[in-house]
This record gives sequence, C-alpha cells and structure tokens, in this order.
Amino acid sequence: PSLTTRLYSEEDSVVILTSATVKQTLLNSSTAWLVQFYSSWCGHCIQYSPTWKALAGDVKDWEHAIRIGVLDCAQENNFDICKEFGIHFYPTFRYFKARGPTFDVGKTYRGADRELQTVRQLMVNFLQNHTTQDWPVSCPPLEPYSSADILPLIGQKSNQYTAVIVENEDSYVGREVILDLMMYQGLTVKRALSSEKSLTEKLVGNLYYIYFSRSSGSNVGGSTNVLPVSLIFSRSKVYMADLESGLHYLLRVELATHQTLEGEELKTFKDFVTVVAKLFPGRQSVVKLLETLLEWLVSLPLEKIPFDAILDLVNNKMRISGMFLSDQLQWVGCQGSRVGLRGYPCSLWTLFHVLTVQAASRPDALANTGLEENPKAVLQTMRKYIVNFFGCQECGKHFEEMAVASLPQVKSVDQAVLWLWRKHNQVNGRLAGTMSEDPHFPKTQWPSPDLCPTCHEEQDGIHVWNEDKVLMFLKQHYGAANISPKHMY
Ligand code: FAD
Repeated sequence: PSLTTRLYSEEDSVVILTSATVKQTLLNSSTAWLVQFYSSWCGHCIQYSPTWKALAGDVKDWEHAIRIGVLDCAQENNFDICKEFGIHFYPTFRYFKARGPTFDVGKTYRGADRELQTVRQLMVNFLQNHTTQDWPVSCPPLEPYSSADILPLIGQKSNQYTAVIVENEDSYVGREVILDLMMYQGLTVKRALSSEKSLTEKLVGNLYYIYFSRSSGSNVGGSTNVLPVSLIFSRSKVYMADLESGLHYLLRVELATHQTLEGEELKTFKDFVTVVAKLFPGRQSVVKLLETLLEWLVSLPLEKIPFDAILDLVNNKMRISGMFLSDQLQWVGCQGSRVGLRGYPCSLWTLFHVLTVQAASRPDALANTGLEENPKAVLQTMRKYIVNFFGCQECGKHFEEMAVASLPQVKSVDQAVLWLWRKHNQVNGRLAGTMSEDPHFPKTQWPSPDLCPTCHEEQDGIHVWNEDKVLMFLKQHYGAANISPKHMY
C-alpha cells in the first residue's frame, strides 16, 4: 500500500485529494473546504492524523457546507501541485471559499491550537466569512434571528419544525447544531441571542426540549459532536407513540415470553385487556383491536390459552379488518439517551397514569365489566400485571411492597390518581443517582415547579405539595386532550 493509504484511507470521512483532482475539486465548489497538506513521513502529521479523522467524522453532516480534505505532498505525483500551492511546511492547513471562480491557493490557518473543538469553531468562523455572493449553496444561515423573525412562528401551523437555540453571542453551540442538523428534513434550527428579552420570555413558557444523543466515539481532541437529533418533544405533553409502543412491546414481546396463559395469569391478562380496551384514549384502530381481543377472551370458555393464538389474532386476523397496533417501537417522550435507558418502563408508567386519569374522568367507562364499582380497578390491574408479567422482577417486588402498605387506603378514583403519582415519586426518589437513571433525564420529584408552579408550596420553610393542584395537573397532563398524536424525528 502507498504511504497515503497508511495515514488516510477511503474509509475515513476525509476526501483524499491528489494532483489529478485537487484543482477541479476546489474550483467553483458548491461547498467551502478545509484541506490539510501533509507529508506522510512527517512525525507531526502522523500523530495528528487521528484528530483529523475524528474531526472529519465529527463534521460529516456539514458536508454540504464545508468539506475536509487531505493531500499528501510526500507522494511523488503530488510534488508539483504542492509547489504550486506554495506548501513549505507540514502540516499546512488551508481554507478555500466556496464558489471560487479562479485558481486560489487558499488561506493558511497558523494557530497552534489544532484541537478538534477549536477547528470546528474556526470552520464556523470561516463559513461566516463568506458573503451572500459566495455563500455555500446549501449552507443554512448562521446569523442570529431577531425576535421579530421568530415570535410569529410560535403557534403557527407548518410542516416544518423550527427549533430555536437561544444563547450568548460568543457561543458556538447554536451554529454548530445548525450545521449538525442541516441534513434533517422537516426541521430548521435557528439561532437567537439571549439579549432578545421578549423572545426568551415567550419561549420559556413553551418548554420544548431538543434532545440530542451524543456520539461516544473517539475522544481524540475532546469531541463533543452532536449526532443526530433524536427527536423534539415537549415535557408538558404525553405522546401516543409512547403509549402504542408500550402496548406493542407488552403484547408482542413481554407477554409473548409466556407460552400459555392460565389461572392467575389468564385472569390478570383478561383484566388488563378489559381496563385498556375500555379506558385507552387511543386511535380507533387500536381501541377496536383491544375491544375485539376482549370479546374473544371473554367468549372463550378455556382455562388455558396458548399465547400464540393471541398473537395470531393481534398480528394477523385483526389486521385484515383494519384493526392494528403499530409494530414498531418509537419512543418520543420516553426516548432514552442510549439503548437500555427509559423506553418501555417509562411507557408503562405513562400508560397507567393515563388509565387512572381516564377512570377518574369517565366514571361509566367500566360499566358492565364487573370492575365498575371498584375505584381501584386500574391500580389493582397494574399491580397484578407488574407482579405476574413485568420483566423486571425486582421492580415488581418493590411495587408489591408499596401496594401492600398503602393501596387499601385508596377509596376513590381521584385518590387512585394521586396514589400512583405518590408511589411513582417514591420510586423516583429511590432510583435517583442509580444506574437506571438516564443522565439526560434525572429522577426528580415530579412535576417540577416549571411544569406546575401551583403544585408546590412552602409551609414553615418546608416544601409541601398542594395535592388538590397536583390532582388537577395530573388530570390535565394525562388527560386525552394532552396526548399528542404527533411526534417527529
Ligand atoms: P419514569 O420514572 O419511567 O417516568 C416516565 C415519565 O413519567 C417521566 O418522564 C415523567 O414525565 C412522568 N413522571 C415522573 N414521575 C411521575 C410521577 N410521580 N407521577 C406522574 N408522572 C410522573 N427501576 C428500577 O431500577 N428499580 C425499580 O425498583 C423499579 N421499579 C419500577 C416499578 C414500576 C411499576 C415501573 C413501571 C417501573 C419501575 N422501574 C424500576 C423503572 C423506573 O421506574 C423507570 O421507569 C425507568 O428507570 C425509566 O425512567 P424514566 O426516566 O423514563 O422516567
């Protein structure tokens, strides 16, 4: 292999330039370029190559605005071209503007700091040095927007989501995120300055999170790349995608580990399907599926049902008549920052909060099911489900202990809503700082003051919950009107 292939290869995100390609590539290019002229025998260049590769990988998503190249001046057929570019030392870093009409040797970066983060920021500065005439065609605007531009977007109906990053003038985060996300369709990121007071006041009330998963890849140069946006969601909403994904997982994965259902398990399953069929405020196709499943279960005089039969019904028979439950996992409000965090258990909590609220707001919903007189119907069903089926046995044990201790005191559907909230907070308190905590979603006592200011009070300098307000908040938050059918990536 040639020396070039030893330092950089096609597998790296860098573009390998040669005497045959460099001029035509840089001339009138639709993007700007940052090129490292190096020599494969130079010790510095060799040591620096992992950083350069990491940088190129890091800014891969910026490639329609600016690209990263390398040219090996130690290769015989590149001698002349390196002379033409006036390269005397290795490595030499040169910027080339987009849409340059004539041959240009570029501008040298002479700074001593070549850390990945520094170079990323230099690339941003370099892009901003373009004028409207030579601005890279696909590069989104990097200048801050004024509140007059942004305020009209709030509440406006559009196919496009706009994410606004409000930050200090000297911060690079906004511009880097704009570039990181320029390839995502349906989403535009705009930058605004925190000095725009009218804007910050307005946005605080909207409580939107942009949530990024960060690449954990190479740490060379202290990479903090933001890759890719997972989704945008509001903490003040509940998402149908989470509820349906939870049901999908529960029916097709968790329960499917049981070959047959009989005795206590079968009873638990029937109660579960009853409660969900009657109370789930979901799409017609899903509710119909649950109702049909319920009718089928009730009509069967069997003591023992093979789970395959249930799956067959859910997966095949019902689909034919347009009743179906999505068979994909799509976590939105329950998305974790990495696999193994949040997801299903989050959706299960959410589902049961929604169901307790439905039971409290629609007193007749459970009529003729045998559960109508029981204010604890949802909680007892949840308790049995958790003990019999929930994959995390330790969780089941803890939940059972809490239920034994305090479930008998629940006397009304409203108390049931509050009981589940209180127990969930108890679990949050126990799990704070443990391994099941997603660092991006710390376990706190919920709802936080920004979600529900009136839920929090102080008595003699001590924090207390205003439970009437909490109940109102829970009914609103987990109410059917607050469940968003939409989500986006
Ligand atoms: P979750 O706790 O799953 O909460 C989901 C969402 O509910 C939050 O994002 C928030 O919007 C909302 N929320 C938070 N608190 C409340 C509240 N008090 N009332 C109403 N809504 C709220 N994991 C363990 O490691 N050990 C255990 O013993 C354990 N026991 C569990 C018992 C049950 C019954 C369940 C369903 C799960 C249990 N888990 C346990 C999993 C754990 O509680 C979390 O579900 C999981 O760690 C994911 O956490 P999360 O950050 O998504 O938030």
